[in-house]
Amino acid sequence: MKRTIENFNLEDKKVLIRVDFNVPMKDGKITDDNRIKESLKTIEYAIEKKAKVILLSHLGRVKEEKDKENNSLKPVAVRLSKLLQKDVVFIPETRGKSLETAIQNMQKGDVLLIENTRFEDIDGKKESGNDSGLGMYWASLGDIFINDAFGTAHRMHASNVGIASHIPSGIGFLVEKELNEFEKALKKPERPLTVILGGSKVSDKIGVIENLVNIADYILVGGAMAYTFLKAGGIEVGASLVEEEKIDFCKTIFEKYKDKIILPIDSVNATEIKEEAKPVHKTIYQMDPTEIGLDIGPYTVDLFAEYLEKSKTIIWNGPVGMFEYPAFTSGTKGLCEVISHTDALRIVGGGDTASAVISLGYKSEMDHISTGGGASLYLLEGKNLPGIDMIEDV
Ligand code: AMP
Repeated sequence: MKRTIENFNLEDKKVLIRVDFNVPMKDGKITDDNRIKESLKTIEYAIEKKAKVILLSHLGRVKEEKDKENNSLKPVAVRLSKLLQKDVVFIPETRGKSLETAIQNMQKGDVLLIENTRFEDIDGKKESGNDSGLGMYWASLGDIFINDAFGTAHRMHASNVGIASHIPSGIGFLVEKELNEFEKALKKPERPLTVILGGSKVSDKIGVIENLVNIADYILVGGAMAYTFLKAGGIEVGASLVEEEKIDFCKTIFEKYKDKIILPIDSVNATEIKEEAKPVHKTIYQMDPTEIGLDIGPYTVDLFAEYLEKSKTIIWNGPVGMFEYPAFTSGTKGLCEVISHTDALRIVGGGDTASAVISLGYKSEMDHISTGGGASLYLLEGKNLPGIDMIEDV
């Protein structure tokens, strides 16, 4: 078990907290503040314990000087201040005298936000490349480091691994919840454990498939990746997105785990990938050469329901159709509906799957929706998270 924020005496300590404030922005405005809200528990705890709270986060990608303009954390400081109902000092720098002086002037319970850590990437990728000098410098600004940014935990950056290698460190409540939920589902699952895999590419999910075939009782495959599996089984899938070079992989794994891997039996197709494309429902044996499979069909939802309804643990990674277009949402929505009526532990991976489940209105029906797409994929692949590995066990 990792050391957590609760294992420290925070009073009057300068506590550096790496949060994930990588919120979507449009024209300088935050369009979804969910990530800020997810960080509040840890920040509020540190305030209550009278820490001097120093926050670090990245926002977007910063490759050139001009990227700074749209990626400042200033609007986040304003929103955070509203949510906390408390002043948040924003320092538009990632290092230097004004930052150091502001930290020296902090009182117990004060909150300060440092500018986007990725501004350090312009001059030689110091943040993303885990520059040792930068990690050491940021660590010198605090007494304790808390990593609560699950979304970047699979990366070795100066603002997580770098800082953690120099001062006593722990994890925050958000990271703790993420690790606990995935551990429950993967290490000692109540069975049957059923995994839904979707999304666009088999190649992105090979590590997940290889790991989960050993752990799960059933793997239900949807999304574009299902068509590569179907083609590997000799089915004509028209113009669907198929990764030819992954057909052999699909064939081998499907033959070995036939009883576990469940493929779609019908499909909602179109002749073009467009929002206004006309959906045509067919069994997977009837696809025309011009048709592209864009969603699982209702028979497949029923078939998958048979497995989901008897499951005690469900993990979902990847939408099973092009849910962004209303005509191809039914499969993903249908599975949300089925899952919401089970009494299983229901875990949803981050990224697109989380967006799909939330936008379709099923957020409260799930036990855990991960805040990290890449990081949750790492856990499903059975890999350790470097940003967490650096933190001591208790
Ligand atoms: P991933 O990031 O790999 O989880 O892929 C998510 C994306 O896969 C979403 O944007 C979906 O629209 C897309 N997707 C799901 N099913 C299909 C499909 N049958 N054809 C094309 N794209 C799909």
